[in-house]
Amino acid sequence: MVLAQLPRFHLSIFAKSHFSLASSHFINPNPPVKLARTLFSLPPRSNLATVEPTPASSDLEDAPVEISLDRLFIPPETDISGEDPSRLAARILKGSNIVLSRYARDAQVVQADYVKSSVRTEDCPADGLPEFALVGRSNVGKSSLLNSLVKRKRLALTSKKPGKTQCINHFRINDNWYLVDLPGYGYATAPHELKKDWNKFTKDYFLNRSTLVSVFLLVDASIPPKQIDLDYASWLGQNQVPMTMVFTKCDKRKKKKNGGKRPEENIKEFQDLIQGFFETTPPWIMTSSVTNQGRDEILLHMAQLRNYWLKH
Ligand code: GDP
Repeated sequence: MVLAQLPRFHLSIFAKSHFSLASSHFINPNPPVKLARTLFSLPPRSNLATVEPTPASSDLEDAPVEISLDRLFIPPETDISGEDPSRLAARILKGSNIVLSRYARDAQVVQADYVKSSVRTEDCPADGLPEFALVGRSNVGKSSLLNSLVKRKRLALTSKKPGKTQCINHFRINDNWYLVDLPGYGYATAPHELKKDWNKFTKDYFLNRSTLVSVFLLVDASIPPKQIDLDYASWLGQNQVPMTMVFTKCDKRKKKKNGGKRPEENIKEFQDLIQGFFETTPPWIMTSSVTNQGRDEILLHMAQLRNYWLKH
């Protein structure tokens, strides 16, 4: 494994990326997380629990952050060994641990159409196009993210119509791949209800859908990790279902409202808790449907996964 051969040290990156759709932005999943509010102008915080005024999100989005090499997601056929740190920095998607590969192209969405709603895996479209499934707890921001990805205000409403909330909803993008909206989970509080959600609508799809390139597990970064999300991530990891973690609501930064934690802290805690479920660190990315943070980056990541999948 490329990762195993890499020395364990931290990169600290300030420069913007050379990629048109991405700029460098690092977050260190290992404590202490260090962030500076503006480039070079403030010393990094040594303790995120320190009470500080909430900076504007644009400042934070530009902040230099650190990440350890062994926590990067390095796509297949991508070798970063021996790469100069500043060049490597330019290859990492902003607000994520994702290294870009040569497969990252054709990311733009020009067309998006609702295709169908299915209640069984075998009823899903059979044209063999690659797909990405969005899943997350009810209210995590899945519809907002879907609409933001396709730049359509109401497309995801289709899957919120009566009778479709518990379906596998397919949206065809650019006539050559699918975004799939899966039922939200965790709405009911009784354990047997949760189990019903999980078993009936998603397990079979995850295990048997041969064109599924990756699950995108949405996790609310404005609140501390929830057990049900950890269970979900654990199940996917243990069943070796490819997964990308999408942290939503990263614009919600007010400490008091969020139980005293910033999104970066919640994200780090979540990652620490799921680390044992995976052989290598899964890709993760910070998003906000309010500021569109992460939108272009998710599309580039989907593009590189998709183009690699199509070649193999
Ligand atoms: P779903 O149930 O997962 O489809 O969630 P929705 O997309 O319907 O969003 C649930 C609630 O969270 C709504 O009130 C949204 O306005 C809000 N929301 C969704 N995404 C974001 C986000 O990125 N930032 C903030 N602040 N609120 C969001």
